[in-house]
Amino acid sequence: MEKSTEQENDTLDKCLAILRKQGYKITPQRRAVLAAFGSCGRFATVQQLLEVVRRTQPDVSLDTIYRNLTLLAELGIVHEVHRPSGNAFEVVAPGHHHHHLVCTECGKTECINICPMNKLYEKEADKRGFFVTGHVFEVYGLCASCRSRLLKK
Ligand SMILES: [Zn+2]
Ligand SMILES: [Zn+2]
Ligand SMILES: [Zn+2]
Repeated sequence: MEKSTEQENDTLDKCLAILRKQGYKITPQRRAVLAAFGSCGRFATVQQLLEVVRRTQPDVSLDTIYRNLTLLAELGIVHEVHRPSGNAFEVVAPGHHHHHLVCTECGKTECINICPMNKLYEKEADKRGFFVTGHVFEVYGLCASCRSRLLKK
């Protein structure tokens, strides 16, 4: 389903509000990176975001995009999806945590609202005096169309 421009602006405003609240300046680059998600679809690679931002800021470097994405990820505004075909980023609702099904053939990525993290990991970490700050979990496999294309022969 296509997102309407109105919803996109709403998401952008919310993200900018979080940045402001955390004491970060809304630089033209930060705004442009966030706005670029609107033209890239749900999951955007750094390269895709760079292309969109360069339409309005031709001098912007890949490094600048990376630095901004790292900050946005630290603030929980974007989530990095680890994909064999190249990592992608998505804008997430504040405080929302979820995982992904990733197709290793075509890169199709779907969000799933199940988290495998449980108290057992925290206990193990605790025993070692380890303080948990996060985790990465993606499920790799074949999407429905790659599955029927590759396995039906
Ligand atoms: Zn696929
Ligand atoms: Zn997701
Ligand atoms: Zn999780």
